[in-house]
Amino acid sequence: MYFVANWKMFGDLKGLNSLNNVINFVTRNERKNFKVVYCPPSTLIFSLSKKFKNTPIDLGGQNSHESENYGPYTGHINSKMLKDIGAKYLILGHSENRQCGENDKLINLKIKNGLKTGLKIIFCIGETLKEKKNNKTNQILSNQIKIGLNGIKNKSNIIIAYEPVWAIGTGLIPELSDLNNLIFFIKKKFKNKSQKVLYGGSVNENNINQLKTINNIDGFLVGAASQDAKKFIDIIKKTYN
Ligand code: PEP
Repeated sequence: MYFVANWKMFGDLKGLNSLNNVINFVTRNERKNFKVVYCPPSTLIFSLSKKFKNTPIDLGGQNSHESENYGPYTGHINSKMLKDIGAKYLILGHSENRQCGENDKLINLKIKNGLKTGLKIIFCIGETLKEKKNNKTNQILSNQIKIGLNGIKNKSNIIIAYEPVWAIGTGLIPELSDLNNLIFFIKKKFKNKSQKVLYGGSVNENNINQLKTINNIDGFLVGAASQDAKKFIDIIKKTYN
């Protein structure tokens, strides 16, 4: 079961002390098949990589440039740099980046380079509210998977994160029956029956008891609630039980 904290553009050095509680909790309650991953903004990756050293918590990036090599791309970092600083995971295809113009083809390039570098990719897919209302969800998810993973034979280092765009940061979550169907729909697209699929979108300490009942769910990508150590611990704790 994965618990991936996506801090987005939040967090500062001062706030990192609260992570001691998370480290203590995860260390004391380490379980096989439970993995906690933090994806902080780039400014905090170095500090967190030191903080998580010799702990069971892993580190991830929130995005990367598609170039495999270093280059003149002001403001960007690539997967090689993330790996160098100790990241093991990389979120790609997040809807907040898709909204800034990233398309499936570009995401596909980024995924390929991330895999080549040796990172595990958390590949976000999800429909907008308009697409949902027009009954386009299945088609959108199929296209995102088809183009995003085009040419990638070995998908063992790909973790899908199903994140309906309308559920991110809104407090809304899908009907559980819809979620069960969609997770099944996504998993069926993969030959590998153990393909990991996470859910993300307004996961919090209040709805986790419901969300953890989704059939065959492999974990959660958590935005806002992961920025509060107590809430994040609560989410993990409630899933443990
Ligand atoms: C996210 O952006 O990946 C996310 C899941 O955000 P939130 O939990 O805040 O909806």
